[in-house]
Amino acid sequence: METPFEQALKQLERANAVRTIPVGLRERLAKPMREVRANLAVRMDDGSTRFFEAYRVQHNNLRGPFKGGIRFHSQTDIEEVRALAFWMTLKCTVAGIPMGGGKGGITVDPKALSAGERERLSRAFVRAFADVLGPQKDVPAPDVNTTAEIMDWMTDEFQNATGDTTRATFTGKSLANGGSEGRGTATAQGGFFVFEALRATLNLPASCTVAIQGFGNAGTHAAEIWRAAGHRIVAVSDSKGTIFMAEGLDPAAVETHKRATGSVANFPGATTLPAEAILATECDLLIPAALEGQFRADNVAAVRARAILELANGPTTPEADDALFARGIPVVPDILANAGGVTVSTFEWEQNLKGEHWAEADVFARLQKTMNDAATAIAALAQTHHTDLRRAAFTLALQRLEEALEKS
Ligand code: NAD
Repeated sequence: METPFEQALKQLERANAVRTIPVGLRERLAKPMREVRANLAVRMDDGSTRFFEAYRVQHNNLRGPFKGGIRFHSQTDIEEVRALAFWMTLKCTVAGIPMGGGKGGITVDPKALSAGERERLSRAFVRAFADVLGPQKDVPAPDVNTTAEIMDWMTDEFQNATGDTTRATFTGKSLANGGSEGRGTATAQGGFFVFEALRATLNLPASCTVAIQGFGNAGTHAAEIWRAAGHRIVAVSDSKGTIFMAEGLDPAAVETHKRATGSVANFPGATTLPAEAILATECDLLIPAALEGQFRADNVAAVRARAILELANGPTTPEADDALFARGIPVVPDILANAGGVTVSTFEWEQNLKGEHWAEADVFARLQKTMNDAATAIAALAQTHHTDLRRAAFTLALQRLEEALEKS
């Protein structure tokens, strides 16, 4: 199977078919500016020392400091982090925010660590990469399995290591430690603003049935936000199973069940199915909010949704993209649909640098405008070029990166 970065480069080639990308820019995007690796030595609770591989990929900073989350996952490797960093460059450009693309990761199963071990691991990451991070250099954020608490530890460690007191080097912090209002729900909220801007274009009804893969930060908040707006959440899943309920699930009750049992599976009153069953749910809108590589050539024929909105990064392979486009199932691409997270992260960075704290209503008003502008521009490009939304989103990003390259 192809690596996520090979898939990302294939996406670039698909976009090249719509509008030719200058060779210089293509080469830059294919070659991250810098990749740093470290082996983090962490003292475990039993007194032993374990080593964890860690990465930071600084993909491109033509439009501003590198920006992108840090992922803690047992399957994370440099190839995955490189692809995620590539998508961040395009995503920040699509959103029109003054940031470049980066990403970080540690190969670890964080659930197998105690809270103290997780804290020492997080602090070790910062000590290893402090030289290449900073408010004007590279600004990390949360991603899969990383939380506001982890960002707070990292901010504290960065301050200890460098003396920087701006707190603008990590975003996604808790409110008490310089976080922004609205950051916790920003990814899902941004996705919802995009959905609202495109609902008519996607030919979706005013009240949709919705299925969501992944019940973490992005998925949980998406379930709450779509339901509060009058849509019906007919299925959700996590790594242990899918639950289906035709009359609609109550996300808050599912969350309580997941907290008590460790999974959404076996939620009372719902039908529990295998994890991958979520992809074949009959619904108006299917929202992948877990990991990469979910829709592939071998399973895409099973999709029975009218539209897909990618809160996860990289859930659709280029082959699956082609198959969905041929079937007339629109895919709202990750670099647009989940850009709300990095947008509010950038607002947090700006607030920290200016010593300000914005009200939640201001944050969401700015977020809505950002997402609406990006969605509208991309839908117009898709129509002009008779192409899918991903190629249109790439086209918008590549035009803007080309302008930045000319000015550099
Ligand atoms: P998270 O760790 O909070 O949640 C991930 C969820 O995915 C968990 O519920 C996990 O059980 C589930 N999952 C894992 N494997 C699965 C499988 N095979 N089937 C079904 N569910 C599975 O992570 P998150 O922050 O919500 O991130 C989810 C996705 O959204 C990632 O692709 C991430 O890069 C992307 N994203 C997150 C943010 C953010 O701000 N958190 C921003 C942009 C994009």
